[in-house]
Amino acid sequence: MAEETIFSKIIRREIPAEILFQDELVTAFRDISAKAPTHILIIPNHLIPTVNDIKASDEKALGRMMSVAAKLAQEEGVAEGGYRLIMNCNEDAGQEVFHIHMHLLGGHALGPMLSQKR
Ligand code: AMP
Repeated sequence: MAEETIFSKIIRREIPAEILFQDELVTAFRDISAKAPTHILIIPNHLIPTVNDIKASDEKALGRMMSVAAKLAQEEGVAEGGYRLIMNCNEDAGQEVFHIHMHLLGGHALGPMLSQKR
């Protein structure tokens, strides 16, 4: 059984977060350490630790994460200018919280997709 993270507490509203959207499948809230003018995290309400753990039964929640990203990008006013959706998986990608989350970043030019450092 995977261990809960701080994101489960946010979903249950046990700790404060600026929640922008919640339904029976997903929750979206502002990242506490914003890396762009708009930085939102979109997560499934049930715990999936990493992208490697995704199963076919998760597809409905994952699809909802995408449609909520598009809706929030419109609401934040970044849809036309552009934005980036990122999901980090495990150590090489720098995943810190082991409850999958999609970062929605926008509000200014985001630069190259990856740092050139190796
Ligand atoms: P990652 O490196 O992809 O695992 O991203 C984890 C993200 O979660 C980081 O951008 C953190 O700033 C963010 N984060 C961690 N704790 C909180 C919190 N309590 N509320 C909002 N965002 C958080």
